[in-house]
Amino acid sequence: MSEARSDCIFCNIVQGKTDTVFLFENENLVVFRDIHPHAPVHLLIVPRRHIRSINDVGEEDREILSEAIWVGREMARMEKVDRSGYKLLYNVERGGGQVIFHLHMHLLGGWKR
Ligand code: 5GP
Ligand code: ZN
Repeated sequence: MSEARSDCIFCNIVQGKTDTVFLFENENLVVFRDIHPHAPVHLLIVPRRHIRSINDVGEEDREILSEAIWVGREMARMEKVDRSGYKLLYNVERGGGQVIFHLHMHLLGGWKR
């Protein structure tokens, strides 16, 4: 299922219906800062399409996964955490810590070494 859902906070964000600032956007993805950061740099790389979780990425959407990593790597460079190091991660379903059921990849970094 990939149609925008009015009850999905990330659908509303990616459609520009909130005041969330995008650090990057293209036709497939948007990037913004996590509202409750778990690291000095904590960004969310979010497909525009409503996909529930990694489990629900269909064949037609598989390229979004490589694009998200590609954009995540670029954002790490822009945020100057690429050399110090960072994590790119997906929480998958409740047991994996997912609380927003619209696919998103976390970029976490910027810790002191
Ligand atoms: P999850 O645990 O589902 O992988 O991560 C969801 C993330 O979205 C959390 O880190 C949470 O802080 C973040 N988040 C939830 N609601 C909002 C919001 O309205 N705006 C922003 N920028 N981040 C949000
Ligand atoms: Zn959504």
